[in-house]
Amino acid sequence: MDTLERFAEAKLAALAERKLRRSLHETAPCGPVGVKRNGRALISFCSNDYLNLSQHPAVKRAAVEATERWGAGAGASRLVTGNHPLFAALERRLARLKGTDDACVFGSGYLANLGIVPSLVGAGDLIVADELSHACLRAGASLAHARVEIFRHNDLDHAEALLAEHRAGHGRALLLTDGVFSMDGDLAPVAALAGIAAAHDTWLMTDDAHGIGVVGGGRGSSFVGGAKTEVPLQMGTLSKAVGSYGGYLCAAQPVIDLIRTRARPFIYSTGLPPGVVAASIAALDLIANDPDLVAAPLRKASFFCARLNLPAPESCIVPILLGAPERALAASRLLEDEGVLVTAIRPPTVPEGTARLRLTFSAGHDDGDIERLAEIVRARILDRDER
Ligand SMILES: *Cc1c(COP(=O)(O)O)cnc(C)c1O
Repeated sequence: MDTLERFAEAKLAALAERKLRRSLHETAPCGPVGVKRNGRALISFCSNDYLNLSQHPAVKRAAVEATERWGAGAGASRLVTGNHPLFAALERRLARLKGTDDACVFGSGYLANLGIVPSLVGAGDLIVADELSHACLRAGASLAHARVEIFRHNDLDHAEALLAEHRAGHGRALLLTDGVFSMDGDLAPVAALAGIAAAHDTWLMTDDAHGIGVVGGGRGSSFVGGAKTEVPLQMGTLSKAVGSYGGYLCAAQPVIDLIRTRARPFIYSTGLPPGVVAASIAALDLIANDPDLVAAPLRKASFFCARLNLPAPESCIVPILLGAPERALAASRLLEDEGVLVTAIRPPTVPEGTARLRLTFSAGHDDGDIERLAEIVRARILDRDER
């Protein structure tokens, strides 16, 4: 065997030893919340399709019709082939939902963050970020070559102290946070962060991948509690509650024009296929016009938490912390035996010692199934801990 294959095998063996090797399991979607794996039907409590819009008839029809009319792929970058008319319609809807001048759609949320952050700050500038910010926000920060300072999760005093210490010595500054934290489900204190950022001439950017369609009446974490917090850079994804694929930034006109001119994943990567863009448009229309649908995922998560006397959730993501990776894997296997799919989340996705089950609730979950899940978690996962 050559050195490359030997390297890969040794690395995988070391990860397997620590229960950190990952593998793919063939899993076919089957209805709004069902999947089929190993020939068995399971109810999934781990999808980010919070409104089940990937399965909505109007969304699927939009994708099919656009594909029939315009084809399966985009052909090139939006700056090269010419901008498909569907993009303007999608970006208008995003800007309206978020209350900004305009929006820029990227190939994915990950690509959006890789493009936005280095377009706004660089060497000699400052980035201050929450320690639990998503991996792609951190990756965007490292591509920027700016100084990066990390504050303790949701710790406003720490964020402010870092800005007080470092802001003066740097040119431009960005404050980065998830709006809804992907693995914990809690909200960032967006209004307070906006105040701190403004006081230190720093631009606040929220990653609202888990906020759009679910919190703030579907408009995201800048709208929680009814009032709008001015967040100049609202980023998110079309791949979760929107049920389709892609990423976006909502911001003021000159900012969006700069991003379209300078963000490398926008310039050097192919535009999204027409069917995907059309699906996002149809899904955003449903989100804007169906408040009951938008409210459902958090209501389902609250029902589950109440059954277990867990604190009331702030989003439809509910973590059950178990500690060691093997404990999370065992709990996931136990649930699969009971007909429920919940993937174990292990480091480095979450910090060392905090492996967990990450349960997500969607509009289409049946209350009876949620009750049954709560009972299994109580009797066979949580009670075991207390002994
Ligand atoms: C999923 C996720 C992303 C990436 O979005 P994709 O469209 O899936 O690439 C970015 N940020 C957060 C917080 C996420 O959870």
